[in-house]
Amino acid sequence: MAKTKTDEKLQKIAKDLLESKEISLLIGYAGGSNPGRMRPFFITKPEETEKLSFGKYAVQDLAVFLKKPEVKKFGKIGIVVKGCDEKAVNALIQEFQISRDDVKIIGVECNGVIRQNLADKGETKVSESTVYDKCLICEEHTPVLYDFIVESEEPELAVSGNVKPYADIEKLEAMSAVEKNAFWAKEFDKCIKCYACRQACPLCYCSRCIVEKNMPQWIDTNSEETGNAQWNLIRAYHLSGRCIGCGECERACPVNIPLMLINEKMARDVYKLFGYKSGKDIDAKPVFGVFAESDFNDFIK
Ligand code: SF4
Ligand code: SF4
Ligand code: SF4
Repeated sequence: MAKTKTDEKLQKIAKDLLESKEISLLIGYAGGSNPGRMRPFFITKPEETEKLSFGKYAVQDLAVFLKKPEVKKFGKIGIVVKGCDEKAVNALIQEFQISRDDVKIIGVECNGVIRQNLADKGETKVSESTVYDKCLICEEHTPVLYDFIVESEEPELAVSGNVKPYADIEKLEAMSAVEKNAFWAKEFDKCIKCYACRQACPLCYCSRCIVEKNMPQWIDTNSEETGNAQWNLIRAYHLSGRCIGCGECERACPVNIPLMLINEKMARDVYKLFGYKSGKDIDAKPVFGVFAESDFNDFIK
């Protein structure tokens, strides 16, 4: 892959940080197994920064690695983030999972990433119909919090409104409770309890997940109706007010359960009720970590 100006700038920042020992590890992107893929790339030596790259196939949210003990042991870490990923870094700082002092944030301007299934088929154009829904409602093409910022070389994403992001949420909202239940029962029936959604999520960091607690066994580990619904609903509630909408859980799901419909719906409801968006403001208190007398509470009978 030809080196772009963005790549050159990223490589220089990373090299300087590693050479000056301001960081011990850099998490970024490098070329993947085919031209339409990029992969997470971990660098500890300045000479390895030559492979660092960024572009419209850099779909992964690298913040997921910040919570891992294998990564934390490096101490000071540099990370390449798009705007949506930076919200995950913010949320992790807000929740005291990482310290702002231990992370150097290298923000990259991003005008959309191409859906992986289309990229694998050779799609090269960033457009309304080729990017993920999250890109069509993106409010952070430029990350807000960063130590370094690198400009994008992709043209701005033109959003005409012809493609409606998360359109199925409105269809779901129009359904009766019985219809909604039938819709989700059918979707959750596909779940094979692989927990890829959890593993891909930057905000799923419990050291022992409820599905692994077996004294008592809270959730059936088999793939069956009740346990599947319990798992997916518990995860949705555990992420409500915390999910930053990166879409990595849905991308990781091998049976294509539309997990972003749940996440986006929950995020919209939290915003409507509490005026809070996860990861937007590093100084804000997590919405379910504070109480205000003005909080919506007429559900308490
Ligand atoms: S949501 Fe924004 S920052 Fe994230 S990939 Fe899409 S355009 Fe880039
Ligand atoms: S629940 Fe999904 S969309 Fe939300 S932060 Fe986790 S991986 Fe990202
Ligand atoms: S990734 Fe999909 S199949 Fe696997 S546990 Fe999560 S919802 Fe179920």
